[in-house]
Amino acid sequence: MSAIDTLPPLRQVIADHGLSAKKALGQNFLLDLNLTAKIARQAGDLSQCDVLEIGPGPGGLTRGLLAEGARRVLAIEKDERCLPALEEIAAAYPGRLQVINGDALEVDPLVHLTPPIRVAANLPYNIGTELLVRWLTPKDWPPFWQSLTLMFQREVAERIVAQPGSKAYGRLAILAQWRADARIVMSLPPEAFTPPPKVSSAVVLLQARPEPRYPADAAILSRVVAAAFNQRRKMLRAALKGVAPDIEDRLRAVGIAPTERAEQIGLEQFCALARTLEQS
Ligand code: SAM
Repeated sequence: MSAIDTLPPLRQVIADHGLSAKKALGQNFLLDLNLTAKIARQAGDLSQCDVLEIGPGPGGLTRGLLAEGARRVLAIEKDERCLPALEEIAAAYPGRLQVINGDALEVDPLVHLTPPIRVAANLPYNIGTELLVRWLTPKDWPPFWQSLTLMFQREVAERIVAQPGSKAYGRLAILAQWRADARIVMSLPPEAFTPPPKVSSAVVLLQARPEPRYPADAAILSRVVAAAFNQRRKMLRAALKGVAPDIEDRLRAVGIAPTERAEQIGLEQFCALARTLEQS
């Protein structure tokens, strides 16, 4: 393995700092620095960007991001055992790495970041979807981030990029694809991680679109899609009964048969339905 910096190999870092992986914190570490540099490159040219990283752990991806030229990295890590290792990285890249010891669901990173901002992370599996939904559903668009380069369990990655008619298609696909361009850019087997998780993983790149793909009110679209997919096996006229009393007429008005199921309906039609509800 060739070195990307002059810091010790990650296996040594883990041994030196006693960083045995904790399952409760979703700790599956990437120890191959060539691989973490490759993930960092998926985020594009970072030289003019601040990068937000969630869960740096022993710092494999952090080192990849810095070696690939990120202007600054802000890393939020819950496990305080990782802090000494991260301090060594900060010392090797003076002024370019800030570490916050805290819970990514509670810390507001924006006060510490200067735009343009990109997000890159090998996310802890237990909070990955929740963070993604938050990043995709801010009140105002465009969001604080230009792109998200995120490692997920393969099954979650597939839900993000899913197309109508597939089993993986649902609320996450619609939220992701309405206001961002999303694609899987890397696939990783369990053995890429220490310890290996039970399932494969994938890196998804989401690039924020300047405007949503189709006009719609975010809150109404969100409500319609949540109701439609909450009862995904029901016909839409039943699943959406609570959304509007005349839902059958509204469905027909935008070319959706009331007997269809949510998984057959594309993003454009969901947005059209949301627009008719705006006028009620
Ligand atoms: N980035 C490292 C890597 O790629 O080797 C570690 C990735 S590991 C999948 C997830 C990391 O997120 C762990 O270091 C874990 O301690 C941290 N983590 C878990 N829950 C967190 C939370 N709520 N806020 C911040 N970090 C968290």
